[in-house]
Amino acid sequence: MSKEAKTQPCPECGGLMRHEKHEDVLVYKEQSRTIKTLGWWCTKCGEAILTGEPLVAHEKAFQQFKAEVDGVLGPAEVAKIRTALGLSQRKASELLGGGPRAFQKYESGTQALSVAMSHLLRLLAKDPKRLRELSGPATVKVPRAHQSQKKPPEPASASRAT
Ligand SMILES: [Zn+2]
Repeated sequence: MSKEAKTQPCPECGGLMRHEKHEDVLVYKEQSRTIKTLGWWCTKCGEAILTGEPLVAHEKAFQQFKAEVDGVLGPAEVAKIRTALGLSQRKASELLGGGPRAFQKYESGTQALSVAMSHLLRLLAKDPKRLRELSGPATVKVPRAHQSQKKPPEPASASRAT
C-alpha cells in the first residue's frame, strides 16, 4: 500500500473510509443546511473524521448557520463590521468586551456572539462615528432637564374623596 492511498478503515465499523468532499448536513434547532466538507468519510456507516483546515472551516460554517438561525451576526459579518470600524481584533475586544480574544473567537467561529454583542455591533455598523465616544473618557453628561425635577405627587385625590 502506498502512503498516498486515500482510504483507511473506519474506527467505528471497520468499513472503508475515503478522503473526499462529501455532503454534510448541519442541524440546529430543527433547521438543517447541507454543506460539502473535505474529510475521511465512511462508505458504510457515514462516520466522518475531520482534521486541520477542513475542520476549522466546518466549525465556522456551523457557527454561521447557527448565527443565522438565532438571528445574531455570524463570523463573516463580525469581521466585516470590525474591519469597517477600523479596529484590530484586540482593540475591538478591549472596547466592546467579551474577553481579550473575543473577536478572534467570533471571527474564527469557535465562539458564538451573544445577542447583546450582536446588537451593539449592528448599531455601530450603522453609525460608526459613535465609536469615538467609546474611545474617550467614560463620562456621561446628563442634561439638567432630565435630572430630578419631578414634583411630589399632589394629594388632590385625597381632598376630593372627602
Ligand atoms: Zn464506518
